[in-house]
Amino acid sequence: MGMFSKARLSVRLRSALWHAYSRRCFYCQDPISFVDLEIDHLLRVSLAEQPDILARWTKLLGLGSDFDLNSSTNLVPTHHGCNQRKGVTDLSEDSLRWYFEMTSAKQAAIAEQLMRLDREERTTDPLIRLASTIEQGLLTKGEVVAFLRRVGQPQVSPKDNPLVICWGMNLLEEETLEALPPEAPAGGPDLYDWLEEDLLATIEKVAKGVFAMVEDQRNGETIGVRIACWFQNVDEVVAAVQPPWELLEARYFMEIYEEPASHWYPQALDE
Ligand SMILES: [Zn+2]
Repeated sequence: MGMFSKARLSVRLRSALWHAYSRRCFYCQDPISFVDLEIDHLLRVSLAEQPDILARWTKLLGLGSDFDLNSSTNLVPTHHGCNQRKGVTDLSEDSLRWYFEMTSAKQAAIAEQLMRLDREERTTDPLIRLASTIEQGLLTKGEVVAFLRRVGQPQVSPKDNPLVICWGMNLLEEETLEALPPEAPAGGPDLYDWLEEDLLATIEKVAKGVFAMVEDQRNGETIGVRIACWFQNVDEVVAAVQPPWELLEARYFMEIYEEPASHWYPQALDE
């Protein structure tokens, strides 16, 4: 006995149906997003277990004796709500007749979408495919990110995903200026350069391992410096960095930049 379920329908077929019906719900005609998409069987799938009733319907509707309940003629994109409202009751003969006319008219468009998807699948690597999926509006970036969160963090090497600490200070604040040592330049780019060098020198002295400045921001008012830390004694380094530097943020590299940090990892140590 066959078990039939919505889960049987491939993403490929769901996607083709969705596009062929202009990304709209078959019943209410309103737009549907791909994640909300449900595929409804016009003739309910459980008729597979009731061959006599199925045969009566297919005959009545002129669908042919080899009619497949999972064929694209029987499948329509719907909202969850619209699918639920239709419920488990059978549609009337008139509705079904009308609906099958509409789905029959869509078969060429569905076939075309399937061919397009096959073409894309053959030609691209998974990341490009993912990007194109986002571009086509099949999924939003947010949905992809949310999905990846559910899947869990992939195992990345610590080299690719160091902790990144951001230190900063506001140079328009009186307190900041007062806290600067006397040897600091009076202001301008010289001061910014000096501050960065001083910060890096402080870290260098304490860190038991490598680090790299991966970003600095200067806007005439504040300075912010992000340091990727491959060393383990982060607490000691944080304690060594003195005011007016403030610790603004500590996050993992891939969370901030959404790519591995490998190209920042000092070359000499890479071998
Ligand atoms: Zn709907």
